Amino acid sequence: MIAQKPPQKQKEQWQVDLATSFSSLPAFLDYCEINYDDLSQEYLASKDFRFFVTKSWASRIVKGKVNDPILLQVLPQPNELIQKPGYSLDPLSEQQQSPIAGLIHKYHGRVLLTLTGQCAIYCRYCFRRNFPYQENQFNRANWENIISYLKENTDIYEVILSGGDPLIMGDNILTKIVSDLAAIPHIKYLRIHSRIPVALPSRITTSLIKILKMTRLLPTIVIHSNHPQELNNEVCEKLRSIKNANINLLNQTVMLKNINDNGKILAELSHKLYQAGAMPYYIHRLDKVAGSSHFYLTPHQENKIITELLSLLPGYLVPKFVEENPNAKAKTPIPIKF
Ligand SMILES: *Cc1c(COP(=O)(O)O)cnc(C)c1O
Ligand code: SF4
Repeated sequence: MIAQKPPQKQKEQWQVDLATSFSSLPAFLDYCEINYDDLSQEYLASKDFRFFVTKSWASRIVKGKVNDPILLQVLPQPNELIQKPGYSLDPLSEQQQSPIAGLIHKYHGRVLLTLTGQCAIYCRYCFRRNFPYQENQFNRANWENIISYLKENTDIYEVILSGGDPLIMGDNILTKIVSDLAAIPHIKYLRIHSRIPVALPSRITTSLIKILKMTRLLPTIVIHSNHPQELNNEVCEKLRSIKNANINLLNQTVMLKNINDNGKILAELSHKLYQAGAMPYYIHRLDKVAGSSHFYLTPHQENKIITELLSLLPGYLVPKFVEENPNAKAKTPIPIKF
């Protein structure tokens, strides 16, 4: 008898899109029509934290514009190599809050799962730049431990899939994760923190939405966008399809120097999100991760930006301005002085 080969699994479009992303700096800069000669510092920075950008994200960069806000979020910079006091590898002390691999239990009633370190783009200011993802991967042993932990801790009502980017995992793994979580009676809510609806919109497929629609868990997707130029028509259509499936849809933003350090830009972002079906949730003060000091704003600058933002928007479109303190049990609101 001839052994039958398993049928070759056809890649989905989003997987093809991911595989054809930019991982080479010169090719990316050529595409952006940015001149360069010596990239040695940029290469060093990309050794520290990977360079990788989807074509979809790159298509929103204005050609030839060296200070484009979409470009600056993903382009490795010589500045990243400067060591500054006060910037650390793990600014949130997450590694001390992880009782088992792949799980962070820091907040009351909710846990974060970090099951993949892969993202569709790598944001240079990411506070998990140095997270030891290798030890936190989704695999059978980790997953069994996580499920036992969740079963034992009956006060946990919400599970947050974080990362990396959890939507980089395929539908099969996500289906398994969601159904195993839904089988634990005290878990009520499922949250997904993901930049993928913005960075790789083709990942938002009807079958993905179905996974979140079919579960008894109340689903929320928290996207991450920082600038209105990120939200092109394709992204907005995908956000609308998430919203239309009755999935709660929120956005978080990081306030970043030279990217969105301006009340008018942030107000425009809120309007665009709202029109696409997503509500502004948080605007974060930058976490001081090593390599990100060039994105830092002074409290005085922040205050000015938020004051302007408040003056432009109805209250329901203003995200909460917060910071994360390693030892606090919740986000700390940052007071504004008028
Ligand atoms: C704050 C935070 C959360 C969740 O906080 P909520 O206040 O429940 O929205 C999740 N992941 C990370 C990394 C956070 O810093
Ligand atoms: S997508 Fe999120 S986790 Fe990934 S690099 Fe950007 S901020 Fe970090």
